[in-house]
Amino acid sequence: MEMIRAAVLRSSGVKGPYVQTRPLSIESVALEPPGFGELRVKIRAASLCHSDLSAVNGDRPWPVPLVLGHEAAGEVELLGPGVTGFAVGDPVALVFKPFCGRCIPCLSGHGGLCEPGSAANANASLLGGYQRLRLGGMPVHHHMGVAAFAEKVTVSQHSAVKIPVGLAWEVAALFGCAVLTGAGAVFNTARVGAGDSVAVLGLGGVGCSALLAARAAGASLRVGIDIVPDKLALARDLGATHVFDARDPDVVAQVRGLTGGGVDFGLEMAGVIPAMDLAYRLCRRGGTMVSAGLPNPSLTWPIPAVSLIAEERTIKGSYMGSSVPVRDIPRYIGLYQAGLLPVDRLLERTIGLDDLHEALDALDSGRALRQVVVFS
Ligand SMILES: [Zn+2]
Ligand SMILES: [Zn+2]
Repeated sequence: MEMIRAAVLRSSGVKGPYVQTRPLSIESVALEPPGFGELRVKIRAASLCHSDLSAVNGDRPWPVPLVLGHEAAGEVELLGPGVTGFAVGDPVALVFKPFCGRCIPCLSGHGGLCEPGSAANANASLLGGYQRLRLGGMPVHHHMGVAAFAEKVTVSQHSAVKIPVGLAWEVAALFGCAVLTGAGAVFNTARVGAGDSVAVLGLGGVGCSALLAARAAGASLRVGIDIVPDKLALARDLGATHVFDARDPDVVAQVRGLTGGGVDFGLEMAGVIPAMDLAYRLCRRGGTMVSAGLPNPSLTWPIPAVSLIAEERTIKGSYMGSSVPVRDIPRYIGLYQAGLLPVDRLLERTIGLDDLHEALDALDSGRALRQVVVFS
């Protein structure tokens, strides 16, 4: 059993400012060696995502104690028995939900809906129900099958995707959550095509990935919407043709004016009901609203029912970007390497494990995009 440094969450539902409430403790945790079909990965970069904040503040409750972190990349260090397709030294991106490859959703090309993967994430365990972390002899939960704010992880081989050698680690980390979710919502769920019009609501790491993907897909009109002025400026830099403050009472009328009736695709990436509502209303008749933002599970969303029929609207949920990670992560990395999906623009700064509280505050304030913990 190896001892590693890891960020442990001991109680969920803690509010900020996190530099004062300090919900995470950096502790020495025992890491069990990989079991059947599992890998040990030395983490090189692990990015802070809104789902980490949701685990801390209780918007999406998790069992504790929990090692947080799920958007990461690293190097395979040890193979458990029965592992195929990986070798020691392989660089991998870790994915926030394991995909077994055998259940009906996996066989239908919807790895994000994997049944055993969903059960594992609900238990905060690895695929198959195992926990490979121990504190004082007691099991510790894994955030989304990964637990990446740690020097090393033991994960299911179905939580890892091989990536090209030489990709910068802090960029590689982004592909397993932000890019998979945001770009996947555009390419897979919405299937945005050349000349389409798109609005993206919520310009964090996922929303900005969606904006970049909309440009790569050939959307000619790309609207960025948020409530933080700096994010609107960034959206312009990333290729938004128009930006609006979500609180502008005229935003629907203005977007309808720009597009002759509304956008083809309204992409909600904020995880709040007002954004879902606005995304729906921004769509043209016959348009499609896609929601990827994960609101608090207790919330409901009323819509004018007749508009669904009389205006032939479509509402689609998008989990993990409707992606097949082993197919899509290499594709998105290829687009990045060709200069068509410059997701390195999402990187705000690199930090150490000890800086996570300050980073949670920056994320909570709506200021930060991607802050990445790097390990030497
Ligand atoms: Zn995430
Ligand atoms: Zn499956």
